[in-house]
Amino acid sequence: MKMVKNLITSIIIGSTALAVPMMANAKAEDGAFKVTDKPITLDIHFHTKKYVYDNNWPVEKEAARLTNVRLNNVASMATTKSEEAFNLLIASGDLPDIVGGSAIKDNVNRYGPEGAFIPMNDLIDKYAPNIKAFFDKNPDIRSSIRAADGEIYYIPYLPDGEFGRGYFIRTDWLKKLNLKTPQNIQELHDVLVAFRDGDPNGNGKKDEVPLFMRQWEELIRLVTLWDGHASGSDQFHDFYVKDGKLNHGYTEEGYRVGIRNLAKWYKEGLIDKEVFTRGSRSREYLLSNDLGGMTHDWFASTAGYNDSLRDKVKGFEFNAFVPPAGISGKRIESHRRGKVKVEGWAMSFTNEHPVETMKYFDFYFTEEGRRLANFGIEGEQYDMVDGKPVFKKAILENDTPLNAQMWEIGAQVPRGFFQDYAYELQWSNKYALAGIAKYEAGDYLVEQFLGVSLNTKEKEVFDKRWATIKDYMLEKQQAWILGSNDIDKDWDDYQAQLDRMGYDKVLKVMQTAYDRAYK
Ligand code: CA
Repeated sequence: MKMVKNLITSIIIGSTALAVPMMANAKAEDGAFKVTDKPITLDIHFHTKKYVYDNNWPVEKEAARLTNVRLNNVASMATTKSEEAFNLLIASGDLPDIVGGSAIKDNVNRYGPEGAFIPMNDLIDKYAPNIKAFFDKNPDIRSSIRAADGEIYYIPYLPDGEFGRGYFIRTDWLKKLNLKTPQNIQELHDVLVAFRDGDPNGNGKKDEVPLFMRQWEELIRLVTLWDGHASGSDQFHDFYVKDGKLNHGYTEEGYRVGIRNLAKWYKEGLIDKEVFTRGSRSREYLLSNDLGGMTHDWFASTAGYNDSLRDKVKGFEFNAFVPPAGISGKRIESHRRGKVKVEGWAMSFTNEHPVETMKYFDFYFTEEGRRLANFGIEGEQYDMVDGKPVFKKAILENDTPLNAQMWEIGAQVPRGFFQDYAYELQWSNKYALAGIAKYEAGDYLVEQFLGVSLNTKEKEVFDKRWATIKDYMLEKQQAWILGSNDIDKDWDDYQAQLDRMGYDKVLKVMQTAYDRAYK
């Protein structure tokens, strides 16, 4: 009898040890994802500007069926501002089991060390083999999310894929004017002049807008052509990192030269006169009215105009081209998809089921959980074809954009999960895919700054100074491009003013936090 018992024990131990590699092939029917035998319900405050967590999302229901953990939303859409919603929540002191959604990182890394959230380093090691495997493979991401005390307080939303935005140009206009795709700054300038003067839209009016940007911040990115640095992350105006040193592009000589030249182009009528004011509909407006010539924007949505405007604008072709070579001959694409987001989810100190919660978080890092978070429900949104999820035709051809369809069912929402780029590939048109292939064939991307977590003292310095410094930088930037101020006349004063405002102090705390996290 004793032997049998020992045998059973050893089998159980054996199978536990095997649990990690077996996860990949585990079948939901076998209860492989069950976190607890007795179903539990955990309250969640999950807020984004568009929606809160929905108990009726099919993805939530499927996750509950597989794991035995049901989440119950307690957030409201009384405000669309996630930061405000979080502040109200933390002020109430009444934290639900899980807090998630937008802008979680800074908040949990601030309130976590004070005791409001449960540190997860040990829990991940013990109960989240799939999350652990992800971090072991991506140590830079682990470094980037840790709080100043070295603990992980949230499981982030992790985007997939590298290429986000690229340069697009009216290739039919190039053909019409007998021009080639610009390969360097001089050729780019010549092409824009030809767009301005050559009447490529053929209406007899000089109404073309050679270079436009849906987001004006994208114009600043062009300083990379003159060896300046734009943002180093997927957020605008961020610091950048090179060889372990942080800096801000808007303080450097390359930026000065770049802005000087962009001001010249603006004066020459090559850049949209309304670039700072036209707003988010500018791409739609300038393309559908056959006015815009070139931009820098997201591959999928920008390439989409080749389909949507085919019948509306005669001959319309808007194709991606590789970055023109800058003054030192380098071709640089300074945008890339963020590897890790400030969104995700965390467990608060009131949570009485931290082990189950950790296992539940880990479920979304299994193959099946990841598929659920990315593609929805098999048979509803997608079918398995040759072992891979493929969206149903009705989903792909629906008038509602695919990402919005996913949000409606609770997929692709910023819980802690690893996005699968295959989800986006399936709704990128052939022009987008051709553009991305051109960028993949070259070596244009630069190192990415994944962010830091400041401790209380560092945060004081940062909060006190950075917002005003950035406002000042942007105010000057706009005045220089519009020509109301001259960057070369202002440059010494500008540097002196940054000194007075404490730019060096901000950079110092950022560098300290960076060294702590990554070295
Ligand atoms: Ca014209």
